[in-house]
Amino acid sequence: MSQGVRTGPDGSGQALSTAYDTALLDLDGVVYAGGSAIAHAVESLEVARAGGMHLAYVTNNALRTPDAVAEHLTELGIPTGAGDVITSAQAVARLISEQVPAGARVLVIGGEGLRVALRERGLEPVESADDDPAAVVQGFGGPDLPWGRFAEASYAVARGVPWFASNTDLTIPSGRGIAPGNGAAVEVVRIATGAEPQVAGKPLPPMHRETILRTGAKRPLVVGDRLDTDIEGAFNGAVDSLLVLTGVTDGRQLLAAPPQHRPTYVDADLRGLLTGQPEVTADGDGFRCGGWTATAGADRLELEGDGEALDGLRALCAAAWTAAGEGSCELDGGKALARLGL
Ligand SMILES: [Mg+2]
Repeated sequence: MSQGVRTGPDGSGQALSTAYDTALLDLDGVVYAGGSAIAHAVESLEVARAGGMHLAYVTNNALRTPDAVAEHLTELGIPTGAGDVITSAQAVARLISEQVPAGARVLVIGGEGLRVALRERGLEPVESADDDPAAVVQGFGGPDLPWGRFAEASYAVARGVPWFASNTDLTIPSGRGIAPGNGAAVEVVRIATGAEPQVAGKPLPPMHRETILRTGAKRPLVVGDRLDTDIEGAFNGAVDSLLVLTGVTDGRQLLAAPPQHRPTYVDADLRGLLTGQPEVTADGDGFRCGGWTATAGADRLELEGDGEALDGLRALCAAAWTAAGEGSCELDGGKALARLGL
């Protein structure tokens, strides 16, 4: 069977917003970037919601509370309640609560989002390794987290206190560039202690489980911009996914994606929710989408035809992923992508 981005879930070309009951939307690079809404996000989400799709927002960032995230989205013109925001802080708090006694103390290295999530599970956030914590949890603490907090975590972890991390994203985009993320902070404690944390965030199952528990989604569609968090999380949860090209993934990375990083659908931005995704069909040795036909040559991907750039990309994905099988496509797609302006 060929590998490639699919047409609508049953090949009908039905809009994704009606084919799936719930969109599980990543935030950064999908809905907003650097605090501002991404082009077409606000209008597309409004149309999807009005058509009956439930919208939920799923973020690995444990710093802000669901209330704060919902307020930000509402300010951008996307009316959102705190109950529709799921954070890795919530996922890790549930994971901890399953492994420590009720009401246990948890040493927190991170921000308010983590403390609120722990209290929600009946756990008591504490600040010192000397407070006799039953667990240590690390979540993104923002630029003002003092270095001494890592020492505090290290003292407890080195004593054998179970260690948890909300997520291990190594970097976090800021308005001024790429900053160290919680994964980098986790590395500091790992280097000091030699221990390994249990991790909750995307792409790992605790985050997906938290999302399904909180939304009650029956037929969810994961919408994201990152292959190794959003799309891999959908793969691990065995649900369909839509990759949008408004964030960190470019065409070259998409063509080289191994199976767990291959989205079900790809589109330029959130307008992709509102349309049926075009069909990709096998055509001799190649794959056709719209006016384009892509084939895998000896050392590069070939593209013929013309039409919508995204259709060309969809055809290329089918050719690249079929050629790569269970691996990662090593054929050069540079010339084909340049022809598409991608
Ligand atoms: Mg993102």
